[in-house]
Amino acid sequence: MKMQAKLIFISMAIFLLVVIVAAAVKNPAAACNEKAFRQFLSAYEAKAVPLSREVALAAFQASISGKDDDFNRSADLQIQLNKITADPGEFARLKAFKTGGQIREPLLKRQLDIIYDSYLENQIPIAQMEAMVTLQAQIEQKFNTFRAQVDGKTQTDNDIEQVLRTSSDSLLLEKAWKASKEIGRLVAPDILKLVTLRNAAARQLGFADFRHMQLKLGEQDPQTIESLFDELDVLTRDGFSDAKKAIDGFLAARCGLDAGQLMPWHYQNRYFQEAPVIYPVDLDVYYKDKNLVPIAGSYFKGLNLPIDDVIARSDLFEKPGKYQHAFSSDIDRSGDARVLCSVKPDSYWMNTLLHEFGHSAYSKFNDPQLPWTLRDAAHAFTTEAIANLLGRFASSPAWLRDMSLISADEARRIAVPSRDALRLQQMVFSRWAQVMFRFEKSMYEDPGQDLNRRWWELVEKYQLLKMPAGRNEPDWAAKIHIALYPCYYHNYLLGELLASQLLYHIAGRVLQADEVENQSFVGRPEVGRYLVNSVFKPGMRWPWNEMIERATGEKLTAKYYARQFIGGK
Ligand SMILES: [Zn+2]
Repeated sequence: MKMQAKLIFISMAIFLLVVIVAAAVKNPAAACNEKAFRQFLSAYEAKAVPLSREVALAAFQASISGKDDDFNRSADLQIQLNKITADPGEFARLKAFKTGGQIREPLLKRQLDIIYDSYLENQIPIAQMEAMVTLQAQIEQKFNTFRAQVDGKTQTDNDIEQVLRTSSDSLLLEKAWKASKEIGRLVAPDILKLVTLRNAAARQLGFADFRHMQLKLGEQDPQTIESLFDELDVLTRDGFSDAKKAIDGFLAARCGLDAGQLMPWHYQNRYFQEAPVIYPVDLDVYYKDKNLVPIAGSYFKGLNLPIDDVIARSDLFEKPGKYQHAFSSDIDRSGDARVLCSVKPDSYWMNTLLHEFGHSAYSKFNDPQLPWTLRDAAHAFTTEAIANLLGRFASSPAWLRDMSLISADEARRIAVPSRDALRLQQMVFSRWAQVMFRFEKSMYEDPGQDLNRRWWELVEKYQLLKMPAGRNEPDWAAKIHIALYPCYYHNYLLGELLASQLLYHIAGRVLQADEVENQSFVGRPEVGRYLVNSVFKPGMRWPWNEMIERATGEKLTAKYYARQFIGGK
């Protein structure tokens, strides 16, 4: 009995050993087929799906409260999430799946490509990754809690913008502008550390620098994007130079100066990223007694994109300590999208609300049948395009009329100046985007250069502004995107290009209209249906340019942007 038992035990052990060895030998092959990848996916989703939701909720909460505890919790969760995709063993498996060539089913292959890239990004030592996340969280908190001081008085960003927009007192404008730049000095040393860390990480992963990595991981070829920016530079250069003369003439008269005396604080916002109001149309008067939130809600309902649930979960008004920029967060890719902003009754915030709810709609009306990994915007800039497409309507006379905010007569009266203002806005914004794009390129290529000077060289070249005499401050660091949304800004301009491309396609093909200027999409559910089916639901199923081609019949092009705003053909 004993002997027999022992024999059985030995043969069992041998059998097991054989099985284990066979499995070990068979494993590399077995690990590369679709069945094995599906198993990998479910294990990955079991970790990533719930944790992503927690991260999004914690970040949203921290942005509302501005409290240390909330920020620490948010940063800790983010580190945990990054750790999932930092696992070198799993990354090796993904590599094997990729090189094995056995993952052919299109949705599986697409998920593999996307998950591979998100692991690749995190194949850097944990300590280094934690240092970056922590540094980033510290900078974020400094931005959140910074309030400019003007003559001993605490000013919110809204206050500063209000002064810059409305005052013609050069001394006050200068003080407000300079006070708003103080944040740059507070965060610049941390940003430089972060840039060095980011570059080191990217080089370890085989990229030229962090910016190359960011673009390539977003399926954007740096050379293609640069060519597009060069093309837009040429398209806008002369028009902008003329527009700038008109702006200068107007502002000089307004402030009682010669055009040659105009300084950056005379241009009505902190960065000259928006056009000064030089045409006789004041959109703010149409919004000043209005509750903007229900206006946005009813507009989206008319598009057959109801967002009452999004509004209910959002945090929309100013609070002490609260993050002052607006964003939409897709909490769970299962319909929970929410917006954070600080609404005031004016045209800027009407634009922002339509913009952010545009993002939310893209998130909410996704395809629940798609795998979780693919249930996201095709690219960051494709969701910016939807946001811009809808946000622009806040300054459209046709939209104001169709929303019953102004009369048909008033719409006619302001049609021409509104169109001129919108064109000026796009021209000014596209020049500013050139500065951001080229500064980031330059900074990641050579962070050791004199960045304060580089910034002003670009501002002078592309925005035609004059550097204040002797100024040597990190004004670049005051722009929050440089630190916290790195190498992302160019996507806003790509988003504008796509917004115009979608507008022309929807007007012509979906609504069968023969012009675009009078389109508002008010009460047009077919527009929402088109967006859901052609843009939102595809998610990341295809690379972004393929989605755009399927949705509009053409790849991304500057043609419609030029036609709409520069008067090209
Ligand atoms: Zn946006």
